[in-house]
Amino acid sequence: MNTAELDFNLKGKSLSELEQLFAELGQPKFRAKQAFRRVNLHLATSLDDFSEFPKSLREELAENNAMPTMPVRHRSAEAGSHSTEKFVFDVGLDPRRGKTESAKSIEAVWIVSENRRTVCISSQAGCTLNCSFCATGTLQFLGNLPAWQIVEQVYELTRVRGERVSNVVFMGMGEPFHNYEDVIKAARILHHPEGLNIGARHITISTAGVIPSIERFTTNREPFNLAISLNHSDPAARGEIMDVDKKYPLDKLLIAARAYTRAMERRITFEYVMIPGVNMNDEHLRRLIKIGRSVRCKINLIPLNTTLQGWRRPSLAEAQKFQGALLDAGLTVFNRGSPGKDVNGACGMLALEMAGGASTG
Ligand code: SAH
Repeated sequence: MNTAELDFNLKGKSLSELEQLFAELGQPKFRAKQAFRRVNLHLATSLDDFSEFPKSLREELAENNAMPTMPVRHRSAEAGSHSTEKFVFDVGLDPRRGKTESAKSIEAVWIVSENRRTVCISSQAGCTLNCSFCATGTLQFLGNLPAWQIVEQVYELTRVRGERVSNVVFMGMGEPFHNYEDVIKAARILHHPEGLNIGARHITISTAGVIPSIERFTTNREPFNLAISLNHSDPAARGEIMDVDKKYPLDKLLIAARAYTRAMERRITFEYVMIPGVNMNDEHLRRLIKIGRSVRCKINLIPLNTTLQGWRRPSLAEAQKFQGALLDAGLTVFNRGSPGKDVNGACGMLALEMAGGASTG
């Protein structure tokens, strides 16, 4: 058969897609599982690692760029040997489109906290959303990442750090729910028992509030954690800091959130960036408590990490007071802090320049 139009990329493919590919190549079905395990469990970097494949097949795959790579351009670690580290990847080559595009970069962060090893990954190069507190929003939007470039972030950080990842959060650059198919596909591959087998409850997808995708996630009963970046509790003011609220307003967003918690009998996570003078006064607190009591949820507070708009980070006392009031109201509330802040790797800082980062190249 004519294989010219086949997509040979072994990365980012589900088991059934691999089965289709190997069928097209006239190969036995078991090659699919072998390839899936090489890519997603053993984290192979080249076809040379596919020792169970006949040489001719390895050559055919190699000629067709079946194992594309996504080079790390920069690494930048916080002080201390077991520390949080930010990675910048070149994602210029997208074999799915079959041509080299101008270099783009995306970022992923390895976050160490107690017994957790969390990888925070990007779903898009840039973002279309324009949240006024977020540095990624200042970037030009360059495109959705295909599933292979999403999982590859986890794989490369695992190879480099040499430890098992315990958690994955889709909280890097981009809006995951504007790249729904590839994000869900990537999450399923990461969760797959023949791959890294990361527990579904250890994979969190965070959205700024794209309601149709939240509904789809609910209807499909996806097993992954869902987080919503609430960031403001006043329906009249949320749109001032998040453009997405103009299209998907807070009241409708809360209806979708409640529908999710009911259908799944599961809590949702609300993220709330604390910005003094913007969303932390008594009225905002009162509204947030009301929301927290009306949706089965946990609230993650994040101190502002950027100085965009001239806004500032809350002091420790301000953050504690805000959190304390929510706790007193009986809500489940955590202050997520800012791991990675020293390397511009904390929430909202991706796209900011590397602070003292050493090039790996
Ligand atoms: N677009 C998705 C994924 C990004 S997640 C979303 O909005 O959920 C990134 C998280 O960091 C979001 O909760 C966002 O509200 C938060 N964030 C963005 N900018 C920030 C900043 N400057 N300081 C602290 N948190 C920020």
